[in-house]
Amino acid sequence: MTRFLDVPDTSRLVATIGVPRFLAELVDTLRADYLRWADFDKSPRVACHSRDGVIELMPVADTKLFAFKYVNGHPINADRGIHTVMAFGALADVDTGYPVLLAELTLTTALRTAATSVLAAKALARPDSKKMALIGNGAQSEFQAIAFHTQLGIDEIRVFDVDARATDKLMRNLSACTALRVERAASTAEAVRGADIVTTVTADKTYATIVTPDMIEPGMHLNAVGGDCPGKTELHAGVLRMGRVFVEYEPQTRIEGDIQQMPADFPVVELWRVLQGEASGRESASQVTIFDSVGFALEDYSALRYLYALAQQLNAGTQISLIPPAADPKNLFALIGTQATSTPASSPATEGAALDLAH
Ligand code: NAD
Repeated sequence: MTRFLDVPDTSRLVATIGVPRFLAELVDTLRADYLRWADFDKSPRVACHSRDGVIELMPVADTKLFAFKYVNGHPINADRGIHTVMAFGALADVDTGYPVLLAELTLTTALRTAATSVLAAKALARPDSKKMALIGNGAQSEFQAIAFHTQLGIDEIRVFDVDARATDKLMRNLSACTALRVERAASTAEAVRGADIVTTVTADKTYATIVTPDMIEPGMHLNAVGGDCPGKTELHAGVLRMGRVFVEYEPQTRIEGDIQQMPADFPVVELWRVLQGEASGRESASQVTIFDSVGFALEDYSALRYLYALAQQLNAGTQISLIPPAADPKNLFALIGTQATSTPASSPATEGAALDLAH
C-alpha cells in the first residue's frame, strides 16, 4: 500500500508538532541532504511552458529513494481565484520502484522554500541580521516571515506588495501568530531601506526589476525567491553584479534564475559547496550576498523524506491502493476479470469534469 497525505493531513501534521519545530527539522533534513550532494542523480526540471504559465516535473534520486514533484507557476491564477503555485509529489523505493508516499506539496512547497531560504541565509547573511524586507505578500510570504523569525532571529520586517489586500492579509496572519514587528511600506525602496535581508517573493511573468542597484546597501543579503522561470525575474542585472551570487543547481538556475539575464560565464557558487566548506560564503561584513533561488528537486526529496518519517511516526494519512495487490503479479487481468468484455448499461457519472478535453 502507498501512504497518501492530502492537504488536511499535512496541515494536521504541521499543527501537531508546530510550525517552528517543523521548519527547524526540515532545515536539518535539507542540510543533511545538501551535504550528500554527490550521492544524487540530478537534472534540471522538465518544463512545459504555455502563454500564462508553466507546468514542471522535478525528479531526483539517490541509491535508496526516488522523488518527483509536479508543480505549476501561473501568476495569472490569482485573478482566476486559484493558487499561483500548486504541487504534489511522490517518494519511491529505488530497489523495487514501489511508490511509498503520494503527497500534497502545495503547502509543503511553501514550507520547504522557506526552510531552504533559511538554510542559505544561515550560511550567507550577516549573523547579526535583525531586519528583513519582504516584497511580495502572497501565498509564500507568511512562511518566509515565520521561518526567518523563528530560525534566524529576524524580529522586524517591512512588507510591500503592489496588491494592498495581499499586505493586509499578511499583516493580519502574522499578528495572529507571532511577536514579529511588521511595518507596512509604501514602496519596495522604502521596505528595503536599512534591511539586513531582502526577500523577494513576487509573481509576475515578466522581466521585472523589483530591486534596483540604488536600493542595495553594504552587507545586505538578498533572498530572491520569485524569479524562477525563463522570462520571469525580480532583480536588476546591476544588482547581481554588486555581490556574490549563490545558486542551488547551476545548470537549472542558468535557465530559470535571475542570472538568466547574465552571460553564461557569470560567476556563481552552488550552495552545497558553501555548506560542505569547499567554497567561501560571505567574505566580509560589507559584502552583498545574493541567493538566486529557483527551487531544486533535492529540496522536495528532503521535504518528502521528512514528511514520510513524520507521517509514520504520527500515523498520519491513509493507505491507498495506488498499485495493484501483488497476490499474483503476472495476473493483472484478474483485477477486471470477466467484466472486461461486458458493456455497462450506463456510464457512471464523472465528478469534477469541468475541463473541456476536445481540441
Ligand atoms: P502569489 O501569486 O500568491 O503571490 C505573489 C505576490 O507578488 C502577489 O501578491 C502579487 O501582487 C505580488 N507582486 C507581483 N508583482 C509585484 C511587484 N512588482 N512588487 C511587489 N509585489 C508584487 O504567489 P506565491 O505562491 O506567493 O509565489 C510567489 C513567487 O515565488 C512565484 O513567482 C513563484 O513561482 C515563486 N516560488 C519560488 C519558489 C522557489 O523555490 N524559489 C518556490 C515557490 C514559489
